[in-house]
This record gives sequence, C-alpha cells and structure tokens, in this order.
Amino acid sequence: MGFRFVAIPGHRVVAHPQTLPADERLEPELPPLHEAVERAFAGAEFRDVKAKDRVRSLLKGDRAPNLGSPGKGFGPSALFAQPPQDLPALLRLADELEALARREAGERALVWKCSECSARYAVPVALARTVSIRCERCGTAVELNPTRSLGEESLIDPFLGAVNSARHELAGFFREAMARGWPVLVSTEEIES
Ligand SMILES: [Zn+2]
Repeated sequence: MGFRFVAIPGHRVVAHPQTLPADERLEPELPPLHEAVERAFAGAEFRDVKAKDRVRSLLKGDRAPNLGSPGKGFGPSALFAQPPQDLPALLRLADELEALARREAGERALVWKCSECSARYAVPVALARTVSIRCERCGTAVELNPTRSLGEESLIDPFLGAVNSARHELAGFFREAMARGWPVLVSTEEIES
C-alpha cells in the first residue's frame, strides 16, 4: 500500500469526509515507488513498535482512520504523531532513518573519465591505486590516479538510492513538522472497488 504523510497546523485538521486544507501543509517529496517508502521504514521503530507496523495498524486496525483525506485518490487520515508528546519519539525515528540511510549508503568509489571519449570508470575506494588502463571504448590510456580522480560517489543500486532518499526526506519532514508543532497525519491510497 502507498502511504502519504502530511503535516498541517493542529487547528486546521478536519474530520473525514472533508479534505485537509492544502494552503498550509508540509509534505515530504517521496519517490513514486511505494515499495521504496515501505522499505525506508524497515528496521526503524516508533515508540518501541516497528514504524511500518504502526502505520499499518493505524490505517488497517480496528478503529478506522477518521481524519480528512489529503486529496483525491487517498483515504481518510490517521494521526501518526502529535506534538509535543510524540516529539522525542519522532525525532528519534528521524535519527534512525538517517542512520539506516548512512549504513546502507553503499561502498564509495572513485571516478575517472577518459579524456578522449568521456567513458566513465569507477573503482571502489579500497581498491584504488595508481594504474594506467586502456579505455575500453576508444583505446586511449586512462590514468586511474587516486589523487586526480573526479571525486567519490557511491556504488548503489537505483532502488536502494530511492529508499535512502525517502529516508532523508522523511527525517527532514518529521523534524520540520515537530519544529512547527504540527501533527503528522498518514493516509493510504484508496483501493477502487
Ligand atoms: Zn575512451
């Protein structure tokens, strides 16, 4: 299921079936892949419960969510975190998400480009040493000198990249919502029946 988080000032929260106001709202920019958003939460906890389980029980539990929907295609919202009482737990969740992103950021690599055809070559930092190779594409000699690389980047697959960007977005969003004292609401896509 695709989650959607929004934060709005407490006095502007409306009940289902009204729609939450859009003029004063914080919302993280999450990747369109909802598996990436679910995965972003894997391993993170909120108030000693797995964050993912908390979202699921809020949206699919015995008590149906009863706050306004964030917009078309989404069901009613549930209260995920309410400042000030949930502030410490939410800030801890933000820290955990960023720690997970750092841990899974992948191996670092040094990058060079062929001066002739611009083909890119990346070598894990741990293995990098000065060596001259023949460019696979054009045959020009490329010197892989660690002191003259174009810089470092991480060797990461696109899915994990999306997961980590969701973690950073969510962490920043949770912190900003708590700094403003706004409740955080969560909803899920409505399934057409
Ligand atoms: Zn080349």
